[in-house]
Amino acid sequence: MSVSEIQQAKKTVEFSRESLEAVLRGRFFYAPAFESYGGVSGLYDYGPPGCAFQANVVDLWRKHFVLEEGMLEVDCTMLTPYEVLKTSGHVDKFSDWMCKDTKTGEIFRADHIVEEVLEARLKGDREARGLGAKPVEEESADKKKRKKKVKEIKVVKLEDDVVKEYETTLAKIDGFSGPELGELMVKYNIGNPVTGDKLEPPIAFNLMFETAIGPSGQLKGYLRPETAQGQFLNFNKLLEFNNGKTPFASASIGKSFRNEISPRAGLLRVREFLMAEIEHFVDPLDKSHPKFDEVKDIKLRFLPRDVQEAGATEPVVKTIGEAVASNMVDNETLGYFIGRIYMFLMKIGVDHDRLRFRQHMANEMAHYAADCWDAELHTSYGWIECVGCADRSAFDLTVHSNKTKEKMVVRQKLETPIEVTKYEIDLVKKLFGPKFRKDAPKVESYLLNMTQDQLAVKAKELADTGKITFSVPEVEGELELDDKFVTIEERTRVEHVREFVPNVIEPSFGIGRIIYAVFEHSFWSRPEDAARGVLSFPPLVAPSKVLLVPLSNNKELQPIVSKVSTTLRKAEIPFKVDDSGVSIGKRYARNDELGTPFGVTIDFDSVQDGSVTLRERDSTKQVRGSIEEIIEAIRQIAYKGVTWDEGTKNLKPFVSQEAK
Ligand code: AMP
Repeated sequence: MSVSEIQQAKKTVEFSRESLEAVLRGRFFYAPAFESYGGVSGLYDYGPPGCAFQANVVDLWRKHFVLEEGMLEVDCTMLTPYEVLKTSGHVDKFSDWMCKDTKTGEIFRADHIVEEVLEARLKGDREARGLGAKPVEEESADKKKRKKKVKEIKVVKLEDDVVKEYETTLAKIDGFSGPELGELMVKYNIGNPVTGDKLEPPIAFNLMFETAIGPSGQLKGYLRPETAQGQFLNFNKLLEFNNGKTPFASASIGKSFRNEISPRAGLLRVREFLMAEIEHFVDPLDKSHPKFDEVKDIKLRFLPRDVQEAGATEPVVKTIGEAVASNMVDNETLGYFIGRIYMFLMKIGVDHDRLRFRQHMANEMAHYAADCWDAELHTSYGWIECVGCADRSAFDLTVHSNKTKEKMVVRQKLETPIEVTKYEIDLVKKLFGPKFRKDAPKVESYLLNMTQDQLAVKAKELADTGKITFSVPEVEGELELDDKFVTIEERTRVEHVREFVPNVIEPSFGIGRIIYAVFEHSFWSRPEDAARGVLSFPPLVAPSKVLLVPLSNNKELQPIVSKVSTTLRKAEIPFKVDDSGVSIGKRYARNDELGTPFGVTIDFDSVQDGSVTLRERDSTKQVRGSIEEIIEAIRQIAYKGVTWDEGTKNLKPFVSQEAK
């Protein structure tokens, strides 16, 4: 069955999230953790097919990114001391806005509540105007589930300008700060969507799980909310490993933890999840990419900042080359990674038509970021951010370096030496101890880390008055030094080396979210058997590749089952034997739910001539050949990207014995 035939079948039998969830739970792809104790929201366990699928996606991720680009993979600890996350900004800023119901104490995420209530009012308005439901693609993340919780959708016609205002607010919903959300709640009179109770103004809730490291409880720490910090802190070691050369990228795959305010939507918003992150370190003056040509002709759906800020959601379709040339995407390296992310998502089974790249709006983006695009996948919960791709400038290395006083820079030998004039400060350190005692190191460090602008001011002060005055954090009072302690002068030197802090381009993948989106994109039912689902995973990532089905339990078939099993094992092709007594048709149907791409049937002719049948999951086409021929065809199709027609062209078509 071709992709377009599956698309057609998908239109015939409407997608049902309930049916997909029944399959995913029933076949133990994943399940709520600690279910026998009532479960904990946002925590899940993966069962055998879920584990195998995730392992295959991660394996492909490694090949597609780490191997292809020669990235340097690291595996860093998840327990992170307070100081590190204070410096990175997470302690102060890694929060979502929550509001409390003044009566019941129930807690809501502020942006979700505004979104939910405005959407419900718009729906009421549409009904009042007799305009049916909004098309599904336009529905926002998590909406469907939350919509059920809205007490009543009042069928009330709104003023035209109110409709426009609500729609504009919704298009910009990701960009509001907490106080702005609070203002919107007052302006639009938004309370608890179920009870109508008043809500307290939004307050910031830090999403990190706090803990104490060691028995004394003195060393405060957190479970990491992302893998990135470990990569930044190993920058110098990685640079040395890479012989001091940039650009290069590090990569890391591991669990991250976020204490989400309202985990929901299955695997989409959880409290512990697998992340795969890349930190690509690049010269800030040269963000071109040598392999940009390989992606420049890929056409994508972009949702740029200005479209969203105008309150619209219509994507702009352009090639990556055009997007970079028009400065819509900031630079080639960012464009290159957007292209590679797209190619990866296609390989693992994402539906091309349900992917868009959305640019962060000005408020949404960290102040230091140069540009940021999210790969969003459309699911029955709306558009979901599955991969973030940001140019984080030199922020992370700079803040860690300032804090630790460890330089994090690239040194590049200049072909032509250059003359550089800059302010320099010299301290007569032996005088600092007697004057400042225990504070001497802090004062020295403050002076030695002054910027060129600060030095220029202080140089003038010293020249004019013979002294400088200044204050140092954590040291009491205003301090004063005269020219016996310090010299500040402009000096010209010939430099043979250029020193720079690299910028970081960071593609960041939430594996669970991507996996769930692929589950939805791959799920369909055959029109003739609508009650059963098929998961049409690409063979490369399918949890198991082959279902081995003896026609009956007859002992005569056993030696062939053993022989095929041994051959598959030797070829390292994952398979499962189904020798249950039910009909072959039922066994295949059951197996379609696991997304196994191939079935190998052993019948009585196999005993005679050693031949077996190969069945393809989506088309249900069958061919016949020797064990070796069939396994080679599976190997070529599952692992080498060969098509079914190509891989089976020398094998005979087969009509099933059951069907005879
Ligand atoms: P962020 O650092 O917030 O840009 O997140 C990076 C990626 O992690 C996102 O694109 C998501 O795929 C994933 N992610 C973030 N939060 C969650 C969550 N609560 N549950 C599952 N995946 C998440």
